[in-house]
Amino acid sequence: MVRFTVLASGSRGNSAVVCGGQTRILVDAGLSCRELFRRMRLAGEVPEKLDAILVTHEHQDHINGLAVTARKLGIPVYFTQATHRAWMRWLTPRRQMTYAQWLEQCRKQNAARCAETQIAEEEADPEDSSPLYDAQGLASSALEATTAPEAPGAPGVEASVEAPTNSDSSKKEDPTWLPCVEYFQSGCSFVIGDIAVSPFTVSHDAADPVGFVFSAEGVRLAVATDLGYISPNVKAQLKGVDLLLLESNHDLEMLRDGPYPWAVKQRVLSRVGHLSNEATDDFLENAYDGQAAYIVLGHLSENNNLPELARLGAERALSGRASLLANRLLLAMQHEPLAAIHF
Ligand SMILES: [Zn+2]
Ligand SMILES: [Zn+2]
Repeated sequence: MVRFTVLASGSRGNSAVVCGGQTRILVDAGLSCRELFRRMRLAGEVPEKLDAILVTHEHQDHINGLAVTARKLGIPVYFTQATHRAWMRWLTPRRQMTYAQWLEQCRKQNAARCAETQIAEEEADPEDSSPLYDAQGLASSALEATTAPEAPGAPGVEASVEAPTNSDSSKKEDPTWLPCVEYFQSGCSFVIGDIAVSPFTVSHDAADPVGFVFSAEGVRLAVATDLGYISPNVKAQLKGVDLLLLESNHDLEMLRDGPYPWAVKQRVLSRVGHLSNEATDDFLENAYDGQAAYIVLGHLSENNNLPELARLGAERALSGRASLLANRLLLAMQHEPLAAIHF
């Protein structure tokens, strides 16, 4: 059975669960771990059965509970490499550490560990002094494994990396430590268990933001929020899906007259900001193929939108075409999960 459950949607936190076959994936972890678990149980999902976490981009409303959730469940987190870097920078702002500095720190930590290992081995067996075991060599090969592993874990998945710090004390100290990190690339599909994942680039002011199309048991689900506009590529990705979670962020008039400072208004309105009700409706009316059994409007602004406005606009956009009347239109909300949608 394929199941889709939105746990939260909006600028205070985003998260959804995709289930297909025996596999369960958490898409973004924008609430605290405790709240994510509470909402999952409320919606009939079992947190302990999650197999992986996928991250669309590094904005706080998508990653707030990421590290705690991944650590608690001991499951891998899938990022693009740029998003992973940006997430690490976000977690270590006071140290002002660049990615290069972080790599250097990993190299030093690995070298220190390897030196300790070498001393221990030499003490145990002084004859065994293979040059392969020189501290520097081990450190650099460990570093290569961190940055450019050769064997991908699955098609389209670029890399599988163990977090660089392994000792218990460094795990506690390092806020960026994760049990396992997998890299994917936008445009390259990959598989997690029974679910095929196709990430696609969206236009948004983050390091490397993506949307996803999930396929399982012949059912296709699309997640496309946090996008400044619907590019031709996004339009192509959203064709032929059975469920579409699409952003309907703000009402243009409410945003223009609303409380945000001018600069923030410009950012939201820009082509790397968020999708307005009007843009969403224009897409649904003129460019959408009408295949989805369910259309879920999400990432509604609490300050610059009203659920009724988003719903009315989308209903109007869909009602103009008789073939779309069978679509069910739902709204994903911020403060409570949406009932699971089954296929
Ligand atoms: Zn967001
Ligand atoms: Zn965002």
